Amino acid sequence: SYVGIHTTGFRDFLLKPELLRAITDCGFEHPSEVQQACIPQAILGTDVVCQAKSGLGKTAVFVLATLQQIEPVAGETSVLVMCHTRELAYQIKNEYARFSKYMPEVKTAVFYGGTPMQKDIDMLANKDQHPHIIVATPGRLNALVREKKLRLGNIQRFVLDECDKMLDQIDMRRDVQEIFRATPQQKQVMMFSATLSEDIRPVCKKFMQNPLEIYIDNQEKLTLHGLQQYYIKLGEGEKNRKLNDLLDTLEFNQVIIFVKSTMRATELDKLLRECNFPSIAVHSGVSQEERIKRYKEFKEFNKRICVATDVFGRGIDIERINLAINYDLPNDSDSYLHRVGRAGRFGTKGLSISFVATAEDEEVLKSIEKRFAVSLEEFPEAGVDPSTY
Ligand code: ADP
Ligand code: MG
Repeated sequence: SYVGIHTTGFRDFLLKPELLRAITDCGFEHPSEVQQACIPQAILGTDVVCQAKSGLGKTAVFVLATLQQIEPVAGETSVLVMCHTRELAYQIKNEYARFSKYMPEVKTAVFYGGTPMQKDIDMLANKDQHPHIIVATPGRLNALVREKKLRLGNIQRFVLDECDKMLDQIDMRRDVQEIFRATPQQKQVMMFSATLSEDIRPVCKKFMQNPLEIYIDNQEKLTLHGLQQYYIKLGEGEKNRKLNDLLDTLEFNQVIIFVKSTMRATELDKLLRECNFPSIAVHSGVSQEERIKRYKEFKEFNKRICVATDVFGRGIDIERINLAINYDLPNDSDSYLHRVGRAGRFGTKGLSISFVATAEDEEVLKSIEKRFAVSLEEFPEAGVDPSTY
């Protein structure tokens, strides 16, 4: 075809037919920009550190690249993917299930804390069940390695999703480093996030050799163009009433409401249910089993409103969310970007509304505007035309 109108297809990546079939089943027509930039090199085993906007398909980059290269051996794990929350680990495991649909010999498992470790141990002890690919949070994984229930001597690929978050937090970073040291020196390392500050990049690169580096240096380019962003100034005591109004008057498919603590999540969820809103709460204050159950309920559209803490702030992909509300504004612009990115996935339209209640909130608002060179507007009295989000 002619230069300029040629669009790359997944076929151009020379993926296995089993993968191409699964991609077609997923309804993916064209690779996104980040997929075009990374997949060709990632499937050759190159290390990758990649920053790309929320919702544009970073997961498929490492899922496809690892599945393309895998040669499963019974009883051996060759791919390790780690991320910062249990729900995200669970979600990534499901992505592996989708894309390995026509590779029945490949086994994937997910391990995270808050569940009985004996189950994980039993699975690892059984050669027929032993996973080739493990998706995990670092705490549980490290526990399995320390107790010598899992050997990492055959790891060929090491992936960190939301890598800045994983390397920022000191205890998580310690676990990641310990796990990394238990893997062979020769391996492919890939890391992904929508936010990779100048400070964290060298930290990431310490784990790699000659990586393909993809960054977004122009912060404005992180802005999600399909997403309309507004704020509402109000007093703390007016938040509930305002939220109630918004949920009554706005048309939305699914909404995620962010609060700053577990306790506030519980309280707000209770209040919403008392007002007959179909709400569910996801935070670290409920049992792990229950958390995943609620995640599924929301993902499967059985509930339309989710009140969450930052455990849902990053990585979580729920197609029908087209409204994100910051009931409590986060403390920094990175968290803001990740949170509002839950609406408007894969370039679709969305709406975000942030409550600004305190002087600190005003400062955060300013830093958001400065960083992303957007001016957030005050939410209009008359509301917003539902066809625009
Ligand atoms: P990110 O990790 O970059 O924030 P995700 O990997 O969670 O984004 O992908 C966001 C959504 O876009 C997911 O629902 C995913 O299935 C979908 N998606 C990814 N790549 C494509 C594609 N090439 N075509 C259509 N949808 C895609
Ligand atoms: Mg992601």
